[in-house]
Amino acid sequence: MLSFENKVVVVTGASRGIGQAIAVAFAQEGAKVTGVARSNLAETGAKVKEAGGEFMAVQADLSKGTQKEAADLVANTLKQIGRIDALVNNAGIIRRAPAVDFPEAEWNEVLRTNLSTPFFLCQAVAKWWLTGGREQSPDEARLKIINIASLLSFQGGILVPAYTASKHGIAGITKALANEWAKERINVNAIAPGYIATENTRALRDDAKRNQAIVERIPEARWGKPEDVAGACVFLASRDAEYLNGAIINIDGGWLGR
Ligand code: NDP
Repeated sequence: MLSFENKVVVVTGASRGIGQAIAVAFAQEGAKVTGVARSNLAETGAKVKEAGGEFMAVQADLSKGTQKEAADLVANTLKQIGRIDALVNNAGIIRRAPAVDFPEAEWNEVLRTNLSTPFFLCQAVAKWWLTGGREQSPDEARLKIINIASLLSFQGGILVPAYTASKHGIAGITKALANEWAKERINVNAIAPGYIATENTRALRDDAKRNQAIVERIPEARWGKPEDVAGACVFLASRDAEYLNGAIINIDGGWLGR
């Protein structure tokens, strides 16, 4: 049985990397996936359909971090497909510079993309759920929100102060929203991926010394793949995870336990 048949899952940052793998993993369970990114989502759309899901592409820039844009995006999705069962806040960027010289524009861009937009998307989806969405859903149905955090939700990182601030913030709002909304049948949780081989981390892999130091510290002794993260995301959105609230699940090959 496909556990996400007729369920609608919104995945931000679905054009590549972890978001694309998450979109495909939901499609394998029969979901209707709405993928959001600035660039063309045709590749993800083809993979989702091949995996057995339906796909809707939404080209949008999530770097503005405004309440209105998040609300418009959610309203647009609801207009086109009627409901949302899960939101995956995955889109994220990283900017590297020493803290003393960290540019204001990059600080704001990272905070808006990685923290403000995810918060306002959570807010808009929850608002729909609380003002009619829940009543249109089967009795036991729940709204699932999964935020993509990071090891830098727990650690300081090197040369990425804005990213670290944003990911500590994501961990914080995951708990805050879980507290407020558990009684409303909304589960809010997060996944903290370790070192996953994507565009986002290419600069680290291209630096031979840094790459070696990273791999040597990971108990699994390899970079993670986007697919390593996707399964847990599907689990968190599933009926098997109804008593999970405000958790941050590390998928890091053992990095944080070391
Ligand atoms: P990628 O750079 O490979 O993908 C990022 C995705 O986010 C793309 O689909 C991109 O689409 C989208 N995106 C970025 N900026 C915007 C924007 N302004 N508007 C809309 N979409 C945007 O990164 P990853 O797959 O590695 O990262 C995904 C998430 O996982 C991020 O939140 C990241 O912080 C987190 N993470 C990643 C780790 C890793 O090791 N890779 C480790 C820990 C956390 P487009 O460019 O088309 O807009």
